[in-house]
Amino acid sequence: MKTDIEIAREAKKKPIQEIGARLGIPAEHLLPYGHDKAKVSQDFIASLEGRPDGKLILVTAINPTPAGEGKTTTTVGLGDGLNRIGKKAIVCIREASLGPNFGMKGGAAGGGMAQVVPMEDMNLHFTGDFHAITAAHNLLAAMIDNHIYWGNELGIDVRRIAWRRVMDMNDRALRDIVVGLGGVANGFARQTGFDITVASEVMAILCLATDLKDLQKRLGDIVVAYRRDKSPVYCRDLKADGAMTVLLKDAMQPNLVQTLENNPAFVHGGPFANIAHGCNSVIATKTALKLGEYVVTEAGFGADLGAEKFFDIKCRKAGLKPAAAVIVATVRAMKMNGGVAKADLGTENVEAVKKGCPNLGRHIANTKGFGVPVVVAINHFATDTEAEIQAVKDYVAQQGAEAVLCRHWAEGSAGIEELARKVVQIAEGGAANFAPLYPDEMPLFQKIETIAKRIYHADEVIADKAIRDQLRAWEAAGYGHFPICMAKTQYSFSTDPNLRGAPTGHTVPIREVRLSAGAGFIVVICGEIMTMPGLPKIPSAEVIRLDEAGRIEGLF
Ligand code: ADP
Ligand code: MG
Repeated sequence: MKTDIEIAREAKKKPIQEIGARLGIPAEHLLPYGHDKAKVSQDFIASLEGRPDGKLILVTAINPTPAGEGKTTTTVGLGDGLNRIGKKAIVCIREASLGPNFGMKGGAAGGGMAQVVPMEDMNLHFTGDFHAITAAHNLLAAMIDNHIYWGNELGIDVRRIAWRRVMDMNDRALRDIVVGLGGVANGFARQTGFDITVASEVMAILCLATDLKDLQKRLGDIVVAYRRDKSPVYCRDLKADGAMTVLLKDAMQPNLVQTLENNPAFVHGGPFANIAHGCNSVIATKTALKLGEYVVTEAGFGADLGAEKFFDIKCRKAGLKPAAAVIVATVRAMKMNGGVAKADLGTENVEAVKKGCPNLGRHIANTKGFGVPVVVAINHFATDTEAEIQAVKDYVAQQGAEAVLCRHWAEGSAGIEELARKVVQIAEGGAANFAPLYPDEMPLFQKIETIAKRIYHADEVIADKAIRDQLRAWEAAGYGHFPICMAKTQYSFSTDPNLRGAPTGHTVPIREVRLSAGAGFIVVICGEIMTMPGLPKIPSAEVIRLDEAGRIEGLF
């Protein structure tokens, strides 16, 4: 089998205007970035209002393991599979962060025969959206320090500035820094730091905003700092929201590209799945729903974090109603959940598969709990045996769902027809009756308890008085209706990354809570959450280079 980049390079891409035309986007409303990428104009998107929506299909997964699951690969594969059986389907996924590509992560464009192209562009600068977000974020940071320099009329407490700086690179040396050194002309020295761009609240805002007006309102709502009396200072108070919106004007428009099989894909936005909600932009999903019969989209991490936030944050806020959910599982990951070490995954072990299946079972039950019908996709790996695959199918049948074997990674759409038909059958059956897990009015702490008990199966949530007081203060300040954005390890239902399977009886300790007033959620941090990654000892940057022909080597 060829590598992902070799396959992508051989893609027979169609001009992006052709892909747009198939969706009924007139050429004048397609803003091309080269030959194979384009943004869709604001006017065209506005003109779609009133059209009926297609059916929304969520692709989620079991808890990630080092064995790999393949959510993006399955999202792209299912989009191609639906097109293959005659449905007008559009894929919606996130853009890639530049930083991790030079560390050790693989690409974000899918894999094997189920990829979005141009994958090199998508994993690098793409259409510049993340650079625009970086610029908008840092403009606000510069305006805060500048305001203090010129007399601090707003009375910002220099010790209580909540807004840090961002860049789209893994650079641990910037996590904690001192700015303003070097004398009177450089302002007031203070401690601050950098996060990676995908962790910026501006990213979360761009992905939840419905249009440019809503974008500017949300930017204005950002709490940048507090005064000595602890009252908040907003981005709006610094008059930064207008200029930030100008910087983000083009980044707000969804990017249209294509799959290896020339089917349409929107790749837009990419918030972290821990301190943010981890899904592509609302504007891309809503636009796709107006243009296609089916929209297949992905949520980050496992269903306990990704699907829960997709439902409770994105769908709740944007009024989306998913018709079905596909839960991706692999035989290898089931084995790892059953206690097998990564080095031994190549050996058949039906008992371990059975032992690991309860992790999948809980995700099935949780997802159904949102009123969304479920089908399991077994993403086929070459080492899977018949008996192991059958064990997963039998287990899923016992849970009142069906598991379908999918070979899209090796075969493209031809390998995923059965899943595509099953998804259509479920979606057209109309069994979905989506409802978020908790109502807006529920007190914030109770929302956290509801997620911990119903989704994680924890016994209790532990939080200091200071944290409970903070939540009550936000309720008093008018933020009580916000949904919760949980930030915990993606590797377990619990807060212990080593606790695989389907643990019960654990506790969820809250370390910190943060207000994302512009994005519109409360971030609840359980355990160590890294907002500025570092590079590994041997970063992939060491082998990334251009070959004699000027092609990129070593990216994947
Ligand atoms: P996720 O979205 O869950 O993080 P991806 O779809 O990005 O996962 O896949 C991660 C990696 O695993 C990619 O490099 C992809 O090529 C590889 N992969 C996915 N499915 C398979 C498969 N069936 N066989 C082998 N490799 C696969
Ligand atoms: Mg992915």
